[in-house]
Order: sequence, then C-alpha cells, then structure tokens
Amino acid sequence: MSLINSNNSIENKIINYIGVLYIIPTPIGNLEDITQRALRVLSNVDLIAAENIKHTRFLLKNFNINAKLFVFHNYNEQQKVKLLIEKLLRGENIALVSNAGTPLINDPGYHLVRRCHEENINVVPLPGACAAITALVASGLPSNRFCYEGFLPTKSKARCDMLYNLSYESRTLIFYESPHRLIQSLNDIINIWGPERYIVLARELTKIWESLYGAPVNELLQWILKDKNRSKGEIVLIIQGCKTNINNNALSVEVIHTLTLLQQELSLKKAITLTASIHKIKKNTLYNYAISKLNT
Ligand code: SAM
Repeated sequence: MSLINSNNSIENKIINYIGVLYIIPTPIGNLEDITQRALRVLSNVDLIAAENIKHTRFLLKNFNINAKLFVFHNYNEQQKVKLLIEKLLRGENIALVSNAGTPLINDPGYHLVRRCHEENINVVPLPGACAAITALVASGLPSNRFCYEGFLPTKSKARCDMLYNLSYESRTLIFYESPHRLIQSLNDIINIWGPERYIVLARELTKIWESLYGAPVNELLQWILKDKNRSKGEIVLIIQGCKTNINNNALSVEVIHTLTLLQQELSLKKAITLTASIHKIKKNTLYNYAISKLNT
C-alpha cells in the first residue's frame, strides 16, 4: 500500500489500514483545468479506476504520470465494484476518474461510492471541472436555486413526459443534450412549455469553439437552424425556471397533457370543455391555467 504524501489535513487524518477512494474530476476540454491536488493524488494512488483507459492514459501522459489503470464503465460497474471494494479493504488507495468532468455526474461511480459507505471506506472528493456548473455560472440565469436533470430522454414520448413533469419547476433547470437531438428537444420544449422560455445553449465549454447563446426558445431554434455548426459539439442547456405562480397540485400532468394535445386540433374553448369533461375538473381551472401559460 502506498501512502498519499499530502499536506492536506483531511488526507493526513486518514488512518491507512484500509484504502481510500478518491473522486477526481478531470478537465472537460482544457487540460489546464486539472488541479495540483488532482495530479498529486493521481501520481500516488495504487490504482486509477477509469471509464476509458485510452482516454485516461492520454491525460496522464500529458502530466508524466505513470499509473496502473483499471477499466470501470457503465456496462461493468456493478461487477467491478466488488473487485474494487476488495482492493480498498486490502489497503489499496484508488482514484476514480471519468472521461471528463466530475465522476458520478452522468458518469459511473454511484454504486462504488455507495458500497464504500457500507464498508466504512473513506471517500475523499476533490473539487473540479463539471460542465453543468461551468455552464450555469456563465448563463446569466439565477444560480442560487437550480436543478440538474442530466440528459433529456432519447425517445420523444419519455422526453415529453419528463418536460410535462417539470412544467412548474421554478428553479433554473440544467440538462445535458446530444447535438443530434437538440432540434427535436427544443421543438418539444416549445410545444410543452411555450415559445418564450429563455434558454442558454452552452457549447464546447473550455474548448476552442466555446460559445454561449441565450434567447427565448423559439428564437434560439431559429438561430440554430441558420447554421448547423451552432448545434455541434458538447452541449449543456440552462433553462429559465417556470415563472407561473399556479398551484402545481391543481392540475396533474395528465390533465395538462390532454389539454395541450386537444389544443393542437381544436379551439381553446373546445379543448377546455373536452378536457374538463374527460378529467372531471372545473373549466375555470383550465382557463386560468391556459391564460397563465399565455403570459409565461
Ligand atoms: N461528468 C461530466 C461532468 O461533470 O460534466 C458529464 C459527463 S456526461 C457523460 C457528458 C456530457 O456532458 C456531454 O454530452 C455534454 O452534454 C456535457 N459536457 C461535457 N463536456 C462539455 C463541454 N466541454 N461543453 C459543454 N458540455 C459538456
């Protein structure tokens, strides 16, 4: 077992009878964004559990770190947890890294950390790069209250259901998105939350083609459609929370879904009458909802 040679008080306090799991963020594009502490820990651990060996080897080579690597990705996480826990219990110090950014944030590691807690193995997190937080702080949208929702579902039905469920979320919303689905997702957002919802598209953060562009979603979509390069690369969407002050419990997701679908084919009046009759609720509640949505 190698001891981590550190000036850090947390690490010095750890009694190394059993190993320590270090959670190490790595750059999301710009290699300068790795911390001194991350490099020191990566140089000293017995093993680095990495999502992609080739990717991590490239990173380590850049900093002249020669370490033993262990493959640990989404497809084998559950099986590999057992092996890693055995090594930690034998006294090995292990660093967990993902391809980019903070492990566990839409990256593998949750089950491993969970098991470490069950086995009383120390988990030491290092702060560092994370695309969601990097985008949020530059977005100009409120950052005091926010919710991180990871990737929007790939299938349209699941994506729309998720958007319906978040209809009244008043905190700033953070999504990761693939360039291939960006246009479909923005169209779904327009259909469900209306054309005025303000969105900041943060692309290629910390890289050469880094860009941040914010606009109401319908304008953002038009802007993207003018130049396909505007939807390329790695993407974070930072979305303004819902401003409507309507009671979230007053209308269920199903009711809003029905009303939205009927409104696409019928006049507002007819859509409301039918929705009220299908779900046995007052027409007035639906009118209030429809009006508040127009003002959003
Ligand atoms: N663990 C990572 C983190 O801390 O941000 C996220 C991993 S997730 C598998 C990868 C997604 O993060 C990308 O598809 C993209 O949505 C977002 N992302 C990663 N790097 C980015 C960057 N440089 N600019 C914008 N988004 C990025």
